[in-house]
Formats: sequence, C-alpha cells, structure tokens
Amino acid sequence: MEYRTLGRTGLEVSKLGYGGSPLGDEFGAADPAEGERAVHCAIDLGINYFDVAPYYGRTLAETRLGAALQGRRDNVILATKCGRYDVNGFDFSAARIRRSIDESLARLRTDYLDVFLAHDIEFVSEKQIVEEAIPTMRAIQREGKARFIGITGLQLNLLRRVAEAVPVDVVLSYCRYNLLIADLDDLLTPFVKEHGIGLINASPLHMGILSASGPPPWHPASSGVKKAGRAVVELCERRGVRASDVALQFAFAHPYVSTTLAGMPAVEQVRQNAAAASIVADETLLAEVLALIAPFKNRSWPTGLPENQDA
Ligand code: NAD
Repeated sequence: MEYRTLGRTGLEVSKLGYGGSPLGDEFGAADPAEGERAVHCAIDLGINYFDVAPYYGRTLAETRLGAALQGRRDNVILATKCGRYDVNGFDFSAARIRRSIDESLARLRTDYLDVFLAHDIEFVSEKQIVEEAIPTMRAIQREGKARFIGITGLQLNLLRRVAEAVPVDVVLSYCRYNLLIADLDDLLTPFVKEHGIGLINASPLHMGILSASGPPPWHPASSGVKKAGRAVVELCERRGVRASDVALQFAFAHPYVSTTLAGMPAVEQVRQNAAAASIVADETLLAEVLALIAPFKNRSWPTGLPENQDA
C-alpha cells in the first residue's frame, strides 16, 4: 500500500481509504460479521484511513466500526463527522456538535478522533458553518478530542468559500472526481493545494454505479448517467477487467488527493480494491471508457440550500 501525506496535517494516509457508510446498511443490509472481517482485512492490507459518520445507518455504522476496531484503534487514522443526523436532519449548533463528538467517541470506543468533519455543509447556511460550527470544532481540537478538523459536501464552490473564510485542515469531496465526473480540479483542488489543506476524494465508484453491483435505489444520478455507468461495467466485463478496478485506478492517479475512500462492506471487495491500488489502469481501455461516458460527463445533482449550489 502506498501512503501519501494529507496536506499540512502531516498524517500519512493510505491511498485507498475505508469508507464506512455501507457498514450502516446504506447500500443494503450488510452482514455485520462480514463487515468486521472487512475492516480487519483492510487493516491487514495496509489501509489506515477509516471514515464514518453518525448519519450512516443513523449511528449503526459508527457502532459497528467501533466494535471492529476494538484493540486496533491505534493502527488507524479515524475520522467521523458531525452536523448531519438524518436525510433531512441537520444541526450544526455548538451545543449539538459538542454532544455529537462525545456520542461518536463512545460508539467508536475511543477518546480521540484523528479527523473531525462537518458533514454535508451545503444543507445549512454558510454563515453558521463559518461562525459557529468550525470555531466549535477548533475548540474541541484544542481540548484534545480531535487532532484535525474539516468539512465535507458535494458543492465544491461552497467548500472552497468556507475554506477561504476560515482555516480548515481537511476537505472531503465526494462524487466529483471519478470516471463519470471530474470537475474537482476546476473548482477546488488549486485552492486547497495552495493552502496545504488535505484533500480526500470519496465515492470513486460514483456510489456504486461503477461497480458490478450497481447503484442503490436511492442514487440521485440521472438515468442517463446510470446507463453510462452500466455501459462501462459491461465494456470492462467484455475486456475481462473489473470496472471497479479501472475506476479506482483513475482516482488513485489524481496528483493531489491523498486518500480515495471506497465503501467496502465485504472482504472480497477490500481485497480487490487493495489489489487495484498496485496496478496502473490500461491506457487503451481507459480511453475507451472515457469516450463511452463522454456524453454524460460531469453531471452532478442539486443538494442542499439553493444558495449553496455550484450551478
Ligand atoms: P463508493 O463509490 O465507494 O461505492 C460504494 C459501493 O460500491 C458499495 O455498494 C460497495 O459495496 C460497492 N463496492 C465497493 N468495492 C466494490 C468492488 N470491488 N466490487 C463491487 N462493488 C464494490 O461510494 P461510497 O461508499 O458512498 O463512498 C465511499 C465512502 O466515502 C463512504 O462509505 C463514506 O465513508 C465516504 N463518503 C463521505 C461523504 C460525505 O462526507 N459527504 C459522501 C460520500 C461518501
């Protein structure tokens, strides 16, 4: 496994990171015992960055990850989030964030986080994130419960504006840098790179579209994008290659992203994805894939408040 430095945090993170949302059954019911084995397999294969949130499975993912990490906490860089608690349940108030981290620490069976992130900030006012949430998280950091803090979301301009307004250590972007959509570098990467902010890229399989298992029923992408993803999976199958491997290799090749987070509730997925990390994508197949999806490239979807949308 290759390790990269997460901006100025200095954390050395594995280029493939473990995404914890499927542990909360977000992609369908996951077998908890298999999930635990997947976490252990990830650690054994050198994956050291683990991402979760109270929102995933409405605390279930944190509880399961905490159990799986018992006795291995010190082998990993552990990140969780605050502010999002349900599909439409957001609370970035200082009091809730303070309660949130204590609840997360208890579920994760630890007394500190490595990274503490404000989750999906586009759903509330920019002012509250800048003036209340981040200052509270900085205070929590000073108190020793979190080593570094940051923000996550889909809307890249908002992530940049907030990071411009108030220093953050880490930004997590999802579904903005993979085979189907790659506008991360137009809107966010130059700023975070210039300021040494750690950049995490989540959902390299576009939340399942670029895998043989396909997207979950709630996936917000258009039917055209889903069809394009399916066509990529079929093309790769015809070439005897897994689409997930090609998608991961595309993401790993990003020059500034430190870790790419993939949701991996099964041991076999961890093994496949970790193996993909040591192989470079076939250039000819990659060109074919990119040509196939070109008519559907760079199509995102609205999330959050109207004033926080990218376009
Ligand atoms: P993803 O693109 O990683 O896709 C996950 C899906 O792909 C799951 O259904 C998984 O079972 C499947 N999969 C993974 N490897 C596979 C393989 N080798 N073969 C077949 N199927 C495979 O999407 P994701 O899980 O949403 O993103 C990764 C992680 O990033 C999340 O788990 C979460 O931790 C984080 N994330 C954070 C935010 C945020 O903070 N706002 C948003 C999205 C994701």
